[in-house]
Amino acid sequence: MMNCDWCNLSEEEKRYQLYESALWTVFLSDEQDYIGRCILALKRHCGSLAELTEEEWEELRRLVCKVETCLKTVLGAALCNWSCLMNSFYKGTDPDPHLHIHVRPRYDNAVTINGNNYPDSEFGHHYALNKSGSIPVEDKEEVFTRLKEWLDR
Ligand SMILES: [Zn+2]
Repeated sequence: MMNCDWCNLSEEEKRYQLYESALWTVFLSDEQDYIGRCILALKRHCGSLAELTEEEWEELRRLVCKVETCLKTVLGAALCNWSCLMNSFYKGTDPDPHLHIHVRPRYDNAVTINGNNYPDSEFGHHYALNKSGSIPVEDKEEVFTRLKEWLDR
């Protein structure tokens, strides 16, 4: 789609691409309110889960398993919160959403990156909406490198 941000990602926006399968792409999210938070984006322009093809569902199922196992193995996540929201597309008058899914790893123990501790103070509860997602760039790089190495292995 001509005007869709997700269909027209710049090289800069693909900087934190972690993994690519035939039909989906996985990015490390700009927001790291939960360390290792990622986005799974469908490569095809498609507006809802209900419109996925069988092949897209099957590949999504495999990716959910792969990404969850990665976040648990590499970062020690206890579980993952998955959400497909799409709300921001509907702020305008002519919504044309592009399917993407957020995954927030949740931690019963704090994650340590480069000596910095990141506790999940809401563990056992809904993820916080007002938590700061900004972490030092070297910590983001470290998370990216660790996850990518596992996903590429
Ligand atoms: Zn699109």
